[in-house]
Amino acid sequence: MLLTKQQKVQIFSLIIFLAGFFGFNIFSTQENSDKLRVTFFDVGQGDSCLIQTPFGQDILIDGGPDKSVIQKLSKAMPFYDRTIDMIIITHPHADHITGIIEVLQKYKVEKIYYSGVMYPSDFYVELLQKIEEHNVPKIVINKNQEINLEQDLNLKFLFPNEDLRGKEVLNLNNTSLVVRMDYKKDSFLFMADAEQEVEQILLKESLDLKADILKVGHQGAADSSSQEFLKVVSPEIAIVSVGEDNKYGHPSRRVLKRLEKLNAEIFRTDHNGDIKIISSGDNDYKVIVER
Ligand SMILES: [Zn+2]
Repeated sequence: MLLTKQQKVQIFSLIIFLAGFFGFNIFSTQENSDKLRVTFFDVGQGDSCLIQTPFGQDILIDGGPDKSVIQKLSKAMPFYDRTIDMIIITHPHADHITGIIEVLQKYKVEKIYYSGVMYPSDFYVELLQKIEEHNVPKIVINKNQEINLEQDLNLKFLFPNEDLRGKEVLNLNNTSLVVRMDYKKDSFLFMADAEQEVEQILLKESLDLKADILKVGHQGAADSSSQEFLKVVSPEIAIVSVGEDNKYGHPSRRVLKRLEKLNAEIFRTDHNGDIKIISSGDNDYKVIVER
Protein backbone atom coordinates (compact mmCIF):
# COMPACT_ATOMS: atom_id res chain seq x y z
CA MET A 1 0.00 0.00 0.00
CA LEU A 2 1.41 3.39 -0.99
CA LEU A 3 0.77 6.24 1.39
CA THR A 4 0.49 9.86 0.39
CA LYS A 5 2.90 12.26 2.05
CA GLN A 6 0.05 13.72 4.08
CA GLN A 7 -0.90 10.27 5.39
CA LYS A 8 2.72 9.61 6.40
CA VAL A 9 2.86 12.91 8.31
CA GLN A 10 -0.40 12.05 10.06
CA ILE A 11 0.87 8.59 11.06
CA PHE A 12 4.17 10.02 12.29
CA SER A 13 2.34 12.70 14.31
CA LEU A 14 0.21 9.99 15.87
CA ILE A 15 3.32 7.97 16.78
CA ILE A 16 4.89 11.03 18.43
CA PHE A 17 1.67 11.75 20.32
CA LEU A 18 1.30 8.14 21.52
CA ALA A 19 5.01 7.93 22.43
CA GLY A 20 4.66 11.11 24.49
CA PHE A 21 1.51 9.71 26.07
CA PHE A 22 3.34 6.57 27.19
CA GLY A 23 6.30 8.55 28.50
CA PHE A 24 8.82 7.98 25.69
CA ASN A 25 10.83 10.96 24.59
CA ILE A 26 11.59 9.99 21.01
CA PHE A 27 13.25 13.30 20.24
CA SER A 28 15.56 13.40 23.23
CA THR A 29 18.67 12.70 21.12
CA GLN A 30 18.00 15.38 18.53
CA GLU A 31 16.83 18.04 20.99
CA ASN A 32 20.13 18.31 22.80
CA SER A 33 22.41 17.32 19.99
CA ASP A 34 25.14 19.81 20.92
CA LYS A 35 25.03 18.89 24.62
CA LEU A 36 26.64 16.18 26.66
CA ARG A 37 24.27 14.48 29.07
CA VAL A 38 25.36 12.41 32.05
CA THR A 39 22.68 10.72 34.14
CA PHE A 40 23.44 9.06 37.46
CA PHE A 41 20.60 6.60 37.86
CA ASP A 42 18.91 6.02 41.18
CA VAL A 43 19.34 2.25 41.23
CA GLY A 44 19.39 1.88 45.03
CA GLN A 45 22.61 0.73 46.67
CA GLY A 46 24.97 0.51 43.69
CA ASP A 47 26.17 2.44 40.67
CA SER A 48 24.92 3.03 37.16
CA CYS A 49 25.53 6.05 34.99
CA LEU A 50 24.65 6.81 31.36
CA ILE A 51 26.69 9.19 29.23
CA GLN A 52 24.95 10.48 26.08
CA THR A 53 27.33 12.32 23.81
CA PRO A 54 26.59 15.28 21.52
CA PHE A 55 26.99 12.95 18.50
CA GLY A 56 24.59 10.37 19.88
CA GLN A 57 26.83 7.74 21.48
CA ASP A 58 25.52 5.98 24.58
CA ILE A 59 28.06 4.89 27.16
CA LEU A 60 27.03 3.00 30.28
CA ILE A 61 29.28 2.92 33.33
CA ASP A 62 28.11 -0.05 35.43
CA GLY A 63 24.58 -1.44 35.55
CA GLY A 64 23.51 -1.32 39.19
CA PRO A 65 22.34 -4.13 41.48
CA ASP A 66 19.28 -5.35 39.53
CA LYS A 67 17.31 -4.95 36.33
CA SER A 68 15.93 -1.50 37.25
CA VAL A 69 18.57 -0.10 34.88
CA ILE A 70 16.43 -1.26 31.92
CA GLN A 71 13.56 1.01 32.93
CA LYS A 72 16.04 3.88 33.45
CA LEU A 73 17.58 3.34 29.99
CA SER A 74 14.21 3.19 28.25
CA LYS A 75 13.35 6.53 29.84
CA ALA A 76 16.67 8.17 28.98
CA MET A 77 17.07 6.82 25.42
CA PRO A 78 14.63 7.15 22.53
CA PHE A 79 12.75 3.88 21.95
CA TYR A 80 14.22 3.33 18.46
CA ASP A 81 17.79 3.48 19.77
CA ARG A 82 18.66 -0.07 20.85
CA THR A 83 22.44 0.29 20.78
CA ILE A 84 24.80 0.95 23.67
CA ASP A 85 28.11 1.97 22.13
CA MET A 86 30.25 1.14 25.15
CA ILE A 87 29.84 -0.43 28.58
CA ILE A 88 32.48 0.18 31.22
CA ILE A 89 32.51 -2.51 33.90
CA THR A 90 34.39 -0.81 36.71
CA HIS A 91 34.77 -3.94 38.87
CA PRO A 92 32.85 -7.18 39.38
CA HIS A 93 30.89 -6.46 42.59
CA ALA A 94 27.21 -7.41 42.23
CA ASP A 95 25.92 -3.88 42.94
CA HIS A 96 27.73 -2.67 39.82
CA ILE A 97 27.32 -5.53 37.34
CA THR A 98 24.02 -7.36 37.88
CA GLY A 99 22.01 -4.97 35.69
CA ILE A 100 24.50 -5.36 32.82
CA ILE A 101 23.34 -8.97 32.33
CA GLU A 102 19.86 -7.58 31.53
CA VAL A 103 21.25 -4.82 29.32
CA LEU A 104 23.00 -7.43 27.14
CA GLN A 105 19.65 -9.19 26.57
CA LYS A 106 17.79 -6.02 25.63
CA TYR A 107 20.37 -3.89 23.77
CA LYS A 108 23.04 -4.38 21.17
CA VAL A 109 26.30 -3.62 22.95
CA GLU A 110 29.22 -2.62 20.72
CA LYS A 111 32.09 -3.10 23.17
CA ILE A 112 33.02 -3.57 26.79
CA TYR A 113 35.93 -2.14 28.77
CA TYR A 114 37.00 -3.94 31.95
CA SER A 115 40.03 -4.92 34.00
CA GLY A 116 39.83 -8.69 33.40
CA VAL A 117 40.31 -9.34 37.12
CA MET A 118 39.25 -12.79 38.30
CA TYR A 119 36.29 -13.12 40.65
CA PRO A 120 34.48 -16.41 41.07
CA SER A 121 31.00 -15.07 41.86
CA ASP A 122 27.93 -16.54 40.12
CA PHE A 123 26.91 -13.09 38.85
CA TYR A 124 30.29 -12.34 37.32
CA VAL A 125 30.61 -15.77 35.71
CA GLU A 126 27.11 -15.38 34.24
CA LEU A 127 27.97 -11.89 32.96
CA LEU A 128 31.15 -13.11 31.24
CA GLN A 129 29.17 -15.96 29.66
CA LYS A 130 26.53 -13.54 28.36
CA ILE A 131 29.24 -11.29 26.90
CA GLU A 132 30.65 -14.33 25.03
CA GLU A 133 27.18 -15.43 23.85
CA HIS A 134 26.46 -12.00 22.41
CA ASN A 135 29.95 -11.77 20.83
CA VAL A 136 30.68 -8.42 22.45
CA PRO A 137 34.37 -7.45 22.10
CA LYS A 138 36.10 -7.02 25.49
CA ILE A 139 38.94 -4.55 25.89
CA VAL A 140 41.22 -4.82 28.93
CA ILE A 141 42.35 -1.63 30.64
CA ASN A 142 45.78 -2.13 32.19
CA LYS A 143 47.42 1.27 31.82
CA ASN A 144 46.56 4.94 31.55
CA GLN A 145 44.99 5.48 28.18
CA GLU A 146 42.94 8.04 26.38
CA ILE A 147 40.12 7.55 23.89
CA ASN A 148 38.93 10.35 21.69
CA LEU A 149 35.18 9.72 21.54
CA GLU A 150 34.37 12.55 19.17
CA GLN A 151 35.19 16.19 18.62
CA ASP A 152 36.17 17.89 21.94
CA LEU A 153 35.18 14.81 23.96
CA ASN A 154 37.83 12.58 25.51
CA LEU A 155 37.71 9.68 27.91
CA LYS A 156 40.77 8.78 29.95
CA PHE A 157 41.24 5.61 31.93
CA LEU A 158 43.37 6.55 34.96
CA PHE A 159 43.33 3.19 36.72
CA PRO A 160 44.20 0.27 36.93
CA ASN A 161 47.76 0.71 35.75
CA GLU A 162 48.65 -2.98 35.73
CA ASP A 163 47.39 -6.10 34.00
CA LEU A 164 44.85 -7.81 36.28
CA ARG A 165 43.77 -10.46 33.78
CA GLY A 166 43.23 -13.78 35.50
CA LYS A 167 44.44 -12.41 38.85
CA GLU A 168 42.50 -12.78 42.08
CA VAL A 169 42.64 -9.62 44.18
CA LEU A 170 41.75 -9.29 47.86
CA ASN A 171 39.96 -5.96 47.63
CA LEU A 172 38.06 -5.70 44.35
CA ASN A 173 37.17 -2.05 45.01
CA ASN A 174 40.80 -1.22 44.38
CA THR A 175 40.66 -2.77 40.91
CA SER A 176 38.02 -0.20 39.88
CA LEU A 177 38.37 1.45 36.50
CA VAL A 178 38.73 5.15 37.27
CA VAL A 179 37.56 7.30 34.37
CA ARG A 180 38.03 10.94 33.55
CA MET A 181 35.96 12.63 30.86
CA ASP A 182 36.65 16.05 29.37
CA TYR A 183 34.21 17.92 27.18
CA LYS A 184 35.66 21.29 26.14
CA LYS A 185 35.98 23.12 29.50
CA ASP A 186 33.90 20.66 31.56
CA SER A 187 35.42 17.70 33.34
CA PHE A 188 34.04 14.65 35.10
CA LEU A 189 35.79 12.15 37.35
CA PHE A 190 34.15 8.77 37.91
CA MET A 191 35.76 7.00 40.89
CA ALA A 192 33.63 3.82 40.95
CA ASP A 193 34.51 2.12 44.28
CA ALA A 194 38.19 3.08 44.36
CA GLU A 195 39.40 3.56 47.92
CA GLN A 196 42.10 5.77 49.45
CA GLU A 197 44.85 3.35 48.40
CA VAL A 198 44.00 4.07 44.74
CA GLU A 199 43.62 7.79 45.44
CA GLN A 200 47.20 7.80 46.76
CA ILE A 201 48.45 6.11 43.57
CA LEU A 202 46.60 8.64 41.39
CA LEU A 203 48.05 11.52 43.42
CA LYS A 204 51.58 10.10 43.14
CA GLU A 205 51.30 9.74 39.36
CA SER A 206 50.60 13.48 39.11
CA LEU A 207 47.63 12.92 36.83
CA ASP A 208 45.24 15.74 36.13
CA LEU A 209 42.59 15.06 38.77
CA LYS A 210 40.92 18.46 38.99
CA ALA A 211 37.31 17.95 37.95
CA ASP A 212 34.11 19.98 37.95
CA ILE A 213 31.92 16.99 38.63
CA LEU A 214 32.96 14.10 40.85
CA LYS A 215 31.19 10.75 41.15
CA VAL A 216 32.25 10.18 44.74
CA GLY A 217 34.07 6.89 45.37
CA HIS A 218 32.38 3.86 46.93
CA GLN A 219 28.90 5.25 47.72
CA GLY A 220 30.50 7.94 49.90
CA ALA A 221 32.06 5.43 52.30
CA ALA A 222 34.83 6.71 54.57
CA ASP A 223 37.40 4.30 53.08
CA SER A 224 37.33 6.57 50.00
CA SER A 225 37.51 10.35 49.54
CA SER A 226 40.43 11.44 51.70
CA GLN A 227 40.61 15.17 52.35
CA GLU A 228 43.91 15.31 50.47
CA PHE A 229 42.40 13.69 47.38
CA LEU A 230 39.19 15.75 47.41
CA LYS A 231 41.21 18.94 47.74
CA VAL A 232 43.10 18.14 44.53
CA VAL A 233 39.92 17.20 42.64
CA SER A 234 38.16 20.23 44.12
CA PRO A 235 34.75 19.44 42.57
CA GLU A 236 31.96 21.96 42.19
CA ILE A 237 29.43 19.16 42.11
CA ALA A 238 29.71 15.87 43.99
CA ILE A 239 27.43 12.96 43.17
CA VAL A 240 26.85 10.17 45.68
CA SER A 241 25.18 7.09 44.23
CA VAL A 242 23.65 5.39 47.24
CA GLY A 243 20.59 3.42 48.40
CA GLU A 244 18.10 4.87 50.86
CA ASP A 245 18.63 3.68 54.48
CA ASN A 246 21.31 1.23 53.37
CA LYS A 247 22.74 -1.15 55.96
CA TYR A 248 26.30 0.16 55.49
CA GLY A 249 25.52 3.69 56.69
CA HIS A 250 26.71 5.17 53.38
CA PRO A 251 27.47 7.95 52.78
CA SER A 252 29.73 8.67 55.72
CA ARG A 253 29.16 11.91 57.64
CA ARG A 254 32.89 12.54 57.50
CA VAL A 255 32.98 12.37 53.70
CA LEU A 256 30.01 14.74 53.42
CA LYS A 257 31.75 17.18 55.81
CA ARG A 258 34.94 17.04 53.71
CA LEU A 259 32.95 17.86 50.59
CA GLU A 260 31.08 20.68 52.34
CA LYS A 261 34.39 22.15 53.44
CA LEU A 262 35.35 22.42 49.77
CA ASN A 263 32.01 24.09 48.98
CA ALA A 264 30.99 21.27 46.68
CA GLU A 265 27.30 21.04 45.94
CA ILE A 266 26.25 17.52 46.93
CA PHE A 267 23.63 15.48 45.10
CA ARG A 268 22.58 12.00 46.27
CA THR A 269 20.54 9.45 44.36
CA ASP A 270 18.78 8.39 47.60
CA HIS A 271 17.50 11.94 48.15
CA ASN A 272 17.40 13.37 44.61
CA GLY A 273 16.50 10.32 42.48
CA ASP A 274 18.07 10.28 39.01
CA ILE A 275 20.57 13.11 38.66
CA LYS A 276 21.13 14.42 35.15
CA ILE A 277 23.90 16.84 34.24
CA ILE A 278 23.66 18.68 30.95
CA SER A 279 26.95 20.12 29.81
CA SER A 280 27.65 22.50 26.94
CA GLY A 281 31.35 22.38 27.66
CA ASP A 282 31.51 25.97 28.87
CA ASN A 283 31.44 25.53 32.67
CA ASP A 284 27.75 26.32 32.77
CA TYR A 285 26.24 22.90 33.39
CA LYS A 286 22.66 22.33 34.37
CA VAL A 287 21.67 19.77 37.00
CA ILE A 288 18.22 18.22 36.72
CA VAL A 289 16.91 16.00 39.50
CA GLU A 290 13.89 13.77 39.24
CA ARG A 291 12.42 14.25 42.71
ZN1 LIG B 1 32.62 -2.55 45.02
